[in-house]
Amino acid sequence: MKQLVVLGGGYGGMRICERFKDEEVAVTLVDRLPYHALKTEYYALAAGTLSDRDVRIEFPEGKHLTYKYGHVVNISPETNSVFLQDGTELFYDDLIIALGCEDKYHNIPGAQEFTYSIQTLEESRKTHQAICGLSPGATVSIVGAGLSGVELASELHESRKDLKIRLFDRGPSVLSFLSDKVSSYVQEWFEEHDVDVINNSNVTLVTADDVRNGEDVYPTNLTIWTAGTQPVKVVRDLGFEADSGGRIKLAPHHHVPEYDNLFVIGDCASLPYAPSGQLAEHQADQVVDVLEAKWAGKKLPKLPEIKLRGMLGSLGKSDGFGIVMGKQALTGKVPRLLKSGVLWKHKKIK
Ligand SMILES: Cc1cc2nc3c(=O)[nH]c(=O)nc-3n(C[C@H](O)[C@H](O)[C@H](O)COP(=O)(O)OP(=O)(O)OC[C@H]3O[C@@H](n4cnc5c(N)ncnc54)[C@H](O)[C@@H]3O)c2cc1C
Repeated sequence: MKQLVVLGGGYGGMRICERFKDEEVAVTLVDRLPYHALKTEYYALAAGTLSDRDVRIEFPEGKHLTYKYGHVVNISPETNSVFLQDGTELFYDDLIIALGCEDKYHNIPGAQEFTYSIQTLEESRKTHQAICGLSPGATVSIVGAGLSGVELASELHESRKDLKIRLFDRGPSVLSFLSDKVSSYVQEWFEEHDVDVINNSNVTLVTADDVRNGEDVYPTNLTIWTAGTQPVKVVRDLGFEADSGGRIKLAPHHHVPEYDNLFVIGDCASLPYAPSGQLAEHQADQVVDVLEAKWAGKKLPKLPEIKLRGMLGSLGKSDGFGIVMGKQALTGKVPRLLKSGVLWKHKKIK
């Protein structure tokens, strides 16, 4: 029986397990967490509006599915093996790397040492604990106003109205890369809710007590980093050719060019779209199609271009924004309801 090892049980890895749970292939999924965690909701965990339990889903059960809990420390494509921190060595016929990403600090002094993170469940819990310890009137600085920074700032505002929240945005207006309508709506939402947005910012230094933006010094009690991601270190260390974001460049069937049994999906993969949970799932589906053909000795399918459904974001629990059906911009309660619906469906069908 073919041995498929999947590293990471996030959005991409979970989809692989769902698709292969009853197939005649032995699937071993490795993750440091004993459940599938909903990374898209970590901002709410950090803000304290969702509990730990709300962001977990059990892994699927299946005849040929095995779960191994552990920390992947090395991958050896030459010997078709994977090493875990506890000394375990796992062998594979085919490997899917779906280990996700971590913060990228762009060599900004103090950023790694003095900021909190929402990139892992553990770090989001720590961030929440640190927020819980803040006194009324304290300032929270969030560096990076992409989707996760915006969702965190708005959720935290709803959760702790006693805090001053400041959001450092590199662009001329938050989320300006999405659409003018969404961008002005979100920017106004922050103005109305007294969240201080610093547009056109260029953070150059972070200390325990302040954030430097060019010549300006902004005192802070706690700083959270949401200003960039890169694949996790064990994937970066593989040394495969990567794009400017450190994501691994792939052959058309999603394996690395050097090894046709080593697939990379999700936030570790270089794809023509911004990384997202949705993209990781679509790519996982395509890799399943490729593996099924490969194992059956058939010609590999020509993969269609991945088409994304759009994106949805929240501004607290009752407001939001999104891009649907290609380019249509939505703002207000409807996209927020849609986002809740997507989350509900994601939890329900797992
Ligand atoms: C706050 C926030 C909001 C977001 N909102 C959205 C959204 O609304 N829509 C959307 O589509 N995307 C959103 N994203 C992006 C989305 O979460 C990621 O793109 C998606 O999770 C990528 O899926 P993945 O399978 O590549 O990795 P992940 O889902 O991150 O899964 C990686 C898995 O690997 C495991 N792992 C990592 N390293 C190791 C190791 N060394 N050993 C063992 N296990 C390991 C982790 O525990 C994890 O389970 C958001 C991200 C954040 C942070």
